Amino acid sequence: MKAMVLKKITNLDKNSTPLEMMDLPDPVPEEKEILIKVSACGVCHTELDEIEGRTPPTKFPIVLGHQVVGTVAKNGTGASRFNIGDRVGVAWIFSACGKCKFCREGNENLCQDFKATGRDANGGYAEYMTISEDFAYPIPPVFSDMDAAPLLCAGAVGYRSLRLTDLKNRQNLGFTGFGASGHLVISLARHKFPDSKMYVFARSENERKFAEELGAVWTGDTAEESPEKLDALIDTTPVWKPIVEGMKNLHPGGKLVINAIRKLGVDKDELMRLDYATHLWLEKEIKSVANVARKDVDECLKLAADIPLKPEYQEFPLEKANEALMEVHQSKIRGAKVLRIS
Ligand SMILES: [Zn+2]
Ligand SMILES: [Zn+2]
Repeated sequence: MKAMVLKKITNLDKNSTPLEMMDLPDPVPEEKEILIKVSACGVCHTELDEIEGRTPPTKFPIVLGHQVVGTVAKNGTGASRFNIGDRVGVAWIFSACGKCKFCREGNENLCQDFKATGRDANGGYAEYMTISEDFAYPIPPVFSDMDAAPLLCAGAVGYRSLRLTDLKNRQNLGFTGFGASGHLVISLARHKFPDSKMYVFARSENERKFAEELGAVWTGDTAEESPEKLDALIDTTPVWKPIVEGMKNLHPGGKLVINAIRKLGVDKDELMRLDYATHLWLEKEIKSVANVARKDVDECLKLAADIPLKPEYQEFPLEKANEALMEVHQSKIRGAKVLRIS
């Protein structure tokens, strides 16, 4: 099969073609696994973290990609959940132990044995992939394959962040950073909390305009003060300044949820400006979001189908994966990027 493969960790400022097109043997589904013929795979900021080693792959060469849509091409022994030809999706969670306290509670995203698609096992930048049938999701018919791909990471992890804010209807929600995840989550949030007001902080004028089109009542630059205090704020930036600036805009008891797998070191000194009285006092909280549990993916797909929420995306053929990644690296983002594979 054709696959775009990462052979080693590299620096994207010096190397604009980190992936190489290779011919790999077709994968064979093991017990309880399914073989998926991939049709679409979303491009995620996390791929940059894998390529540059901030969340390094555990094997090389590796096929990246964890927002995969395709059809079941073959069942391994004992796999019976899906029929051949059924449309399925795969997300960042590839597997977990199934036995530990976190797995039993439905927070398998926190399992010590958590394995990530496209990092610890081959993902969807290829014509085929295999995964346990228990970690695949039926795709609601309202979505095309390309529509569904961005929902599987930007949507699902965003949905988990929204869940972790504990927001209630009528409470104010903020977003700092407004990329692929933000544009999906604001729509999910507006559907789930119809009387809540949404505030968006973003550096780029284009992102702010886009947020207004999607229903934000107010938008401003990262460091601005929002006209009303926020009950919760979701941060999707890779840096620190938005954390410090965001905390000052929270209500007492407000919560900032960081939806980023790793933060960069470039502006870490911003943290020195964190003032206890202004930013943390009165029971303000900071919480991170780690990975996704299966429940998040399922619920996100259902909520999105109910709206229905069709992500805005830009299409690339598989062999142009490097171009798509470089555009993410250079922050040329409006909506999502999706590779069309078949
Ligand atoms: Zn992702
Ligand atoms: Zn576990």
